[in-house]
Amino acid sequence: MHIRYLQCIKCKEKYSKKEIRYRCACGQSLEVVFNFNEIRNIISWDRLRKRPFRHWRYKEFFPLVKSENSVTLMEGGTPLLKSRNISRELGFDNLFFKCESENPTGSFKDRGTTVEISKALEFGSNEIVCASTGNMGASVSAYAAAANVKAHIILPVDTPDIKIAQIKSHGAIIHRVYGDYNAAEVEASKLFRKRGWYLMGDYPYRGEGEKSVGFEIADEINADYIISPIGNGTLIYGIWKGLKEFKNVKLAKKLPVLIGVQSKGCNTVVNAFKKEMDFIKPVKPHTIAGAIACGNPLDGLKALQVLRESHGMVESVTDREILKAKDYLAKKEGVFAEPAGAVTLAGLIKLKNRLKKNARIVLIVSGNGLKTAMLGI
Ligand SMILES: *Cc1c(COP(=O)(O)O)cnc(C)c1O
Repeated sequence: MHIRYLQCIKCKEKYSKKEIRYRCACGQSLEVVFNFNEIRNIISWDRLRKRPFRHWRYKEFFPLVKSENSVTLMEGGTPLLKSRNISRELGFDNLFFKCESENPTGSFKDRGTTVEISKALEFGSNEIVCASTGNMGASVSAYAAAANVKAHIILPVDTPDIKIAQIKSHGAIIHRVYGDYNAAEVEASKLFRKRGWYLMGDYPYRGEGEKSVGFEIADEINADYIISPIGNGTLIYGIWKGLKEFKNVKLAKKLPVLIGVQSKGCNTVVNAFKKEMDFIKPVKPHTIAGAIACGNPLDGLKALQVLRESHGMVESVTDREILKAKDYLAKKEGVFAEPAGAVTLAGLIKLKNRLKKNARIVLIVSGNGLKTAMLGI
């Protein structure tokens, strides 16, 4: 394992890697800091590409003591699909979809979960708790089943039935709260403190797992832009951290520009970016894209920091624009996304005049349409 310590992204306080720690004492997110000198000497593209094109191809970059012991459902290795029709209609030559809906439980969450559950086992936990708008819970309960670990999933009132069914079928215990995702998150933290169950969710080790979205893109193309949805901000942060680490160990030469897209009804990070604030102001979320309805985003500040570092852009989109983009993606490309999975396309449509025609653009399609079966518009 090449971890040195965990460090607060704001006050820079350090914590031992041996400690189970989710947030800094100051309340902010923690980041896992690695020793790259060791990794640099053992890694090359030749070596990586001898392994199957899946999440664990990049095992040296994940924070486990023994990656052989990881609990995997063969996540990652998702298609980077070249657009056949939308690119032409929008006037781009090189538009790609990173189809995260093809992960074992239908979203990119599985990349974070495989790392997080393996970490929970390393810490000796056999009972876990996790707050979720649905996809995280589905992912965590599937991996908990495989790991033979008992899972408690805390869900907001408006979780879609199909996501609840997915969670239940894996045998997890469901706890409902009469509130939104952040109420669920407060409840999960409370159960962690009261019962000592391992807390899973958008904490440092999950972001580490979600780096593999960035790794896989870099493995296939040199993207100029990566467009990601932002809910809690963990995904966009993970993509950037991964790419930076690749650059650091000389697996990548240049970094892309990040574009973060949120729903207008939950535009916390977009708002902070546009107004040049250095904190995230929580909102009460109102959006059809349930998977990004995080009014007080756990990794919001991380997302804001990486957007600035990459000289990125932001956009927010209405529910109507999201549903239209979801339909457009299905009708023109054969890709069926859930609403949160189509916000990136909705964002690109609004930003299209700011990007060069020949730029290599990757849109993250984060989740599967089967998870929110509804009639389009
Ligand atoms: C979790 C999720 C998001 C948001 O990711 P964050 O890491 O919370 O920013 C977007 N789309 C889908 C489908 C998700 O499940």
